[in-house]
Amino acid sequence: MTIGVLAIQGDYEAHKVRLEQLGANVTLVRKPEQLDAIDGIVIPGGESSTFLNFLAEHGFLEKLRDFVRTKPTFGTCAGAILLANQVENPPQQSLNAMDISIRRNAYGRQIDSSIREVRTKLGDKPLEMVFIRAPKIVRTGKGVEVLAKSGGDPVLVRQGKTMAATFHPELSEDTRVHQEFLKMVKNGHRSK
Ligand code: GLN
Repeated sequence: MTIGVLAIQGDYEAHKVRLEQLGANVTLVRKPEQLDAIDGIVIPGGESSTFLNFLAEHGFLEKLRDFVRTKPTFGTCAGAILLANQVENPPQQSLNAMDISIRRNAYGRQIDSSIREVRTKLGDKPLEMVFIRAPKIVRTGKGVEVLAKSGGDPVLVRQGKTMAATFHPELSEDTRVHQEFLKMVKNGHRSK
C-alpha cells in the first residue's frame, strides 16, 4: 500500500513524516503519471489557487479528478477547498469530489489563525486543531458525514472515500486523523 502526498506546494513534508511514522509507504507526487502507482492521496494545505495553476498543465487536473473519484483522498485546508464541489470567495474550479460548499479565508484577519481543542467522532479525547487562514464549510450535502464541528461549523467531514479537514492535523502530535485516513485506504473505501 502506497500513499501519495501531492507535493506541488505547501506543507507536504509534514504529512509525509506523519504517515511514515504510522508505518505507511509514502511517495511525493509531482507528476500526473505517479497517480497510477498509489492507493490513496493526501492533498495538503497551501494556496488552493496556486495548486490549480500548477495542475492546469500536462492534464494533471483531469487525471487527479479521475483519481479522487475512485481512490481514497484526504484534503487539508487548501486540499479541502480543492475537493469541494462549490467554492466561494472567490468562486474557483475544483476537483468536484465532495458535496460541500466552502468559503476561502472565511475567518477574517483577526482570527486568521488559531489552535482549538475540539470534540470529534474519532475518540473521546478532544483533538487539537491548528487553523491557518482556514476556509469554512458552509454547506454539507446529504451524503456527507460530519466527524467534527467547531464554532457550529463542520471542520472534519467525510463522504465515501473522501475526507476533508479545514485544519492542519499534520501540525499537531495527535495522529488520529491520519490513522483514520490510513484505515480508509486499507478498507478501499467506506460505502455511504
Ligand atoms: N487560504 C488558503 C486558500 O484559500 C488555504 C490556507 C491553508 O491551506 N492553510 O487556499
